[in-house]
Amino acid sequence: METVSDEHSAKLRKFSPAARIVVVLLLASAALLLQETVMAQTSVAAPKPAEPLTSAQLNDSMRKLEAELLAKYGQAQKPRLSTGLHQGMEFWRPEDGDAAVFESFVRINFAGDQASLDTMFLRFQRLLEQLDGHMHEISREFATQQDLDLGPIRSYDEVFGGYDPSAHVTDDFFQNKLAFIVLLNFPLTTLEERINDGPKWTRRQWAETRLAERFSKRIPADVNLAIAQAGGDAGNYIARYNVWMYHLVDDKGQRLFPPRMRLLSHWNLRDEIKADYGDAQNGLLKQRVIQQVMERIVTQSIPQVVIDNPQVDWNPFTNQVKPAAAQDSDATAKSDAKITNAPEPDLRYATLLKTYHASRMADPYSPTAPTLIDRRFNEDREIPEERLKAMLEQVLTSPLVPQVAKAIESRLGRPLEPFDVWYAGFRPGSKYSEAELDAAVAKKYPTPEAYQKDIPNLLVKLGFAPERARYVADHIIVDPARGSGHAMGAEMRSEKSHLRTRVETTGMNYKGFNIAVHEMGHNVEQTFSLNDVDYTLLQGVPNTAFTEALAFVFQAQDLALLGLAAPDAKSDAMKTLNDFWGTYEIAGVALVDMAVWHWMYDHPDATPAQLRDATLQIAKDTWNHYYAPVFGKKDVVLLAIYSHMIDSFLYLPDYPIGHLIAFQIEEQMKKSGSIGPEFERMAKMGRVTPDLWMENATGKPVSADALLAATSEALKQVSQP
Ligand SMILES: [Zn+2]
Repeated sequence: METVSDEHSAKLRKFSPAARIVVVLLLASAALLLQETVMAQTSVAAPKPAEPLTSAQLNDSMRKLEAELLAKYGQAQKPRLSTGLHQGMEFWRPEDGDAAVFESFVRINFAGDQASLDTMFLRFQRLLEQLDGHMHEISREFATQQDLDLGPIRSYDEVFGGYDPSAHVTDDFFQNKLAFIVLLNFPLTTLEERINDGPKWTRRQWAETRLAERFSKRIPADVNLAIAQAGGDAGNYIARYNVWMYHLVDDKGQRLFPPRMRLLSHWNLRDEIKADYGDAQNGLLKQRVIQQVMERIVTQSIPQVVIDNPQVDWNPFTNQVKPAAAQDSDATAKSDAKITNAPEPDLRYATLLKTYHASRMADPYSPTAPTLIDRRFNEDREIPEERLKAMLEQVLTSPLVPQVAKAIESRLGRPLEPFDVWYAGFRPGSKYSEAELDAAVAKKYPTPEAYQKDIPNLLVKLGFAPERARYVADHIIVDPARGSGHAMGAEMRSEKSHLRTRVETTGMNYKGFNIAVHEMGHNVEQTFSLNDVDYTLLQGVPNTAFTEALAFVFQAQDLALLGLAAPDAKSDAMKTLNDFWGTYEIAGVALVDMAVWHWMYDHPDATPAQLRDATLQIAKDTWNHYYAPVFGKKDVVLLAIYSHMIDSFLYLPDYPIGHLIAFQIEEQMKKSGSIGPEFERMAKMGRVTPDLWMENATGKPVSADALLAATSEALKQVSQP
C-alpha cells in the first residue's frame, strides 16, 4: 500500500462536505427570488431603515415572542423555540433589521408543528443539493483548463480556476434570511455533543445537525474569495514544481536518470525513491541524489533556474548549474532566464504564508472555532487535536519501530539512510521492475478511454456484483489530468464524479495506474455516499481521512488488478509492515505540518525567511525526536518536503489517520471476505462523526491499536523461514 500519492487533496479540500460548512452555496438567481419573498413578508412591519438592536430590545422581543408562540404551538415547543431564538439573535446584525423586523421574522418562520418542520426540512435538503451540485459543476468547469491536460494555461484560465462562484452565498443567505430560518428551527451542536449524544440520534437528527452547521459562521464573501485565491495560487506554484531528472549530473557530468523524466515535487520525487529500490545497479545513487534535491527544495537553496527547466544541467551536491549539455526536450529556452545558481527566493514559504494570512481573515467570523487549526480539527475532522496527536505519537514511539527498522536494514544489507523513510521493499510487488510494470500497464491502458472502459471489470475483480459495478461505473467519467491525478466527486445526484488520471503519449505507466486505482476508490465512495445515502444532507464521509482510507483499500489491490499478485499470508504480512512504515513516516510529516501552523499563529508577522528557518527547525526537531534514534543521523529536514504543506491548509494529519482507519476497514473487509459489498455498506453511512462511522463499519471507534497489533503479528510471520 502506497502512502497517498495524489494531488486531489486540494480538490477534496475545496469541495469536501466539511468545507461546505463554511462555504454555503447559493445560486444567485434563486437568492434574488427568495430574497424578494422574505422582503415582501417583512416589509409590512419594517419599511424604515434598520437601527441597531440593543440586547435589551432583543431580550424584550424574545420574552414577547416566547409567550406568544408557546400559546400558539404549545409548551412542548419550548426547548426548540428557546434554542432557535438564541441562535437567531446570535447572528442578527443591525443591518438585518430592528426589533420589529426580528419579531415579524420569527412569527412567520418558526415551524411550530411537525408537519411544517418536515416540509421545511425536505425543501431545504432538496434545494441545497441543487445549489451545491450546480455550484460545484461551475467550479469544475472553470478549473478544467488548469486541471486537465489540454494545452497551455492562459492568464484568464488561472482567474477562472481561482474563482469561487459560491463565495457570496453565505452573505446572500444571511441577507435574504434563509440562514436565519435554519438557525431558528434547527439546533447547532458542539463537537462534544456530537461525540457524546450523536450515537443516540436518529438519522433525521443527524441530517438536521448538518443542515444547521452550514450556518454556524457568517464569513464575508471577500474573505472566502481571498482564501480561495490563496489556495489557487499555492496550487499553481506547486503544480509547476517539476525537476528534469536527466539534467541532474554528478561531478563527472554523468546522468543517472533517463531522458525526458520530469518529476513533480514531492509526489513523483518520492515515488521515484520508492521505485529505485528495484534498481540494483544505480538505485542507491539515485535515491541519494533525490534526497539531496528534496533538501535543496526545503532549505530553498535550490537554484531558481533549475525549476521546471530542461535547459540547464544541475549538480545538486555542489549546486553548480550549466547550460544543458544534452537535449531531451522540445521546450524552448526561457529567454530571460540567466543561468546562475541564485536560489529560489523563499517562494515556498512566501506561498505558505499567504495561505495562512488568508485563513486568518476568517478567524473573527468563526467565534466557536477562531483559528484554522480549530476549524480543521473540531469541525472538518471532528477529532480533537490532542486525541489525534496522541494516536500519532502512539505509532511514532511504538517499540515496533526499531524492530521494523531492523527488518528493513537486514533486507537492504546496509544501515538505513534518511530517504529510507520511504522504503517500499515490503511490497510483494517489488519483485517486478518498474519497467515491467510500466509495460504491462501501458499495454492495457494506452489511453484514458481504455481505463474508463475497464472500470466495470476492475470493480468486479474487487468483489462488486456485475450490476453494482455497472451502476458505479456509469457514475464515473475519466479525464486526462495535467498533474499526477485526482478524484473530483459530484455534489448532486444528477452529476457524475470525475477521475483525473495522467496518461503519457506512450500510454499509462505504473505510477499513473497506481494513482488511478486510488482515485477510483474515491470515486466509488463518492458515488455511494451521494447517491445511496438516506439523506443528501449527510452526503459524504466524516472527513477526508475516511475517503483516503477507502481509496487506500482500492490502491492496495493494484497489482492484483493487473493480475500480478496472489495474496497469501506472507504478502499480507508484508503489506502490513509496509502500512506500518508508511504510517510512521507520514505521522512525522503531519506533526511538522501541525507545528508549523501553530508557529505561524504564534508569529503572525513572520517573514518568509523566518518561516523557512522555523520550518527547518521544526522538521529537524521532529526528526531528532522520533527518527534519529532509528536512523542514526540527526538534523534531517526531509519531513518538510510535502507539497501539501504549502497548498493544502493543514491537510496532512488526515493521511496518518487515514492509514489507521484504512487498516481498521481492511481488517473488517477481510473478516467479511469481500471488498465490494462491505465498501458499499460503509460508504452509505454518510457524514456522521468519525467514531460513530467506524462503530457502524467495524464495531469499534477510530484507533491505532489494530495497526499495531497486526504489525506485531506480521513481524513474526515475516521472520519465519
Ligand atoms: Zn486520495
